[in-house]
Formats: sequence, C-alpha cells, structure tokens
Amino acid sequence: MRVVFLGPPGAGKGTQARRLADRYGIPQVATGDMLREAMASGSELGQRARAYVELGELVPDDVMLAVVEDRLRRPDAERGFVLDGFPRTLAQAEGLDDLLRRLGRRLDAVVLFQVPEETVVRRLAGRWTCPACGRVFHESYSPPRTPGVCDADGSPLVQREDDRPETVRRRLAVYAEQTAPVVEYYRARGLLHSVDGSQDPDAVAEAVEAVLRHLVEVR
Ligand code: ADP
Ligand code: AMP
Repeated sequence: MRVVFLGPPGAGKGTQARRLADRYGIPQVATGDMLREAMASGSELGQRARAYVELGELVPDDVMLAVVEDRLRRPDAERGFVLDGFPRTLAQAEGLDDLLRRLGRRLDAVVLFQVPEETVVRRLAGRWTCPACGRVFHESYSPPRTPGVCDADGSPLVQREDDRPETVRRRLAVYAEQTAPVVEYYRARGLLHSVDGSQDPDAVAEAVEAVLRHLVEVR
C-alpha cells in the first residue's frame, strides 16, 4: 500500500499514519520527524533545516526530495509506505511522481484530513511528543497515563518549539499558500479521498480504513 496523508498541521496525520503503519507493517515516512531527528543529531541536514523549521517555513524542495528518495529506496519501503507531511508543494508532488516512476511504482491513494482551523490550533497548543519514540499525545484529547510521561517507554514528553502560537499561525499560512494546491493536484488525478478529521481518533481511523478497504476491493 502506497499512501500520502495530506492536511494542515495538527490535522492528525501523524496519529493516523502510525496506526496505519502498525496495522499494515509498512513504514511511516514522516518528513517532520526525520528533520527533527536530523536537528537533534546535528547532522548537515539538521543544521540546514533548523532555520526553516523554527520559523515554520518549508525546507527547500530539492533537500526534501533527496531525503524522501533516500528513504523510499530503503528495502522496508518496498512493500509500501505512508507518507506523512510530504509532499507539501507542487514541486514536491511532481518530484514524487517522477521518483515513483523511476522506481516503477505508483501511489494508491491520497487521504486528505479535513479539520477546521480553530480545532487544529487547539490540538497543536496541547500536543506533547515523546522525543524517544515519536508517539504523540494531547493533554486533553489523548492524555498519557501519567502527565508528561510517555506511555510506551517512560521518557519525559516535550512540546514542540514550532507549536508556539506565533509559529503555528505561520505554518497555517504556509499550508494555505503552498500545500493547498497539492490537494487540487491529486484531485485532478483522481487519487484524492477526504475524511472528516475532526472526529475522535477511532472514528477517523475507521474512515481511513473505509477508503483504503474500498481501494483494495476495486482492484
Ligand atoms: P499532524 O501530524 O497532522 O500535525 P498529530 O497527529 O500530531 O497531527 O495531532 C496533533 C495533536 O492532536 C496531537 O496532540 C494529537 O494527540 C491530537 N489529535 C490527533 N488526532 C486527534 C483527534 N482525532 N481528536 C482529537 N485530538 C487529536
Ligand atoms: P511537521 O512535523 O510535518 O509538522 O513538520 C515540521 C516542520 O518541518 C515544517 O513546519 C517544515 O519546516 C518542515 N517540513 C516537514 N516536512 C516538510 C516538507 N515536506 N517540505 C518542507 N518542509 C518540511
């Protein structure tokens, strides 16, 4: 299964991508997570990305395409993948098409998570992440068993620097300007499926599953 998850920051892409990846045994390719790991390790990619990520701007397309190509060429992505946070520009969407053509593969579906802006703002303000395993919690909607501690591995949870209100505003504007056209790109290719991302996580997971089940059935 080769799927792209699209939607504004805070729409629930990461939460649902992890579930889907666990369920189908395919990698969750989350470009934001990859950049944060690179920044934490101090690699050249991390040093280059930091200024963009901290301001809520997009890292240049050529950098992101190289990162994704490298990841999708790894053997664990041969059976499929769920792309979470990529593509975010038309150039990235075209670059992904080109890459998949070179690999002799194609996308099965693009799932768009539709969530009102006031909801994503509330979600991002209360998001807590485990820096060790990447699991995501929300202080009200999906709290960890012990406040501030990861259920899975006991690590102290952190809030993302770019979830501060002023950066969130910029990220939402960047989504509207640069990523919204990607929705139309996939709609025109007949790949786009919208789900109501404002429901509770189990209901959203069912809606995603319904889209993907249908795809498997029509093949
Ligand atoms: P994205 O990857 O799209 O930026 P996340 O999956 O990180 O979004 O979710 C953002 C925040 O909203 C997290 O704190 C997460 O726990 C919470 N969240 C995710 N899905 C839902 C949902 N369906 N209902 C309520 N809160 C949610
Ligand atoms: P995310 O974790 O998906 O919210 O991404 C966090 C930040 O990483 C974004 O605000 C961007 O600065 C950067 N980023 C993640 N994915 C991409 C991408 N596909 N293209 C450009 N920048 C990205």
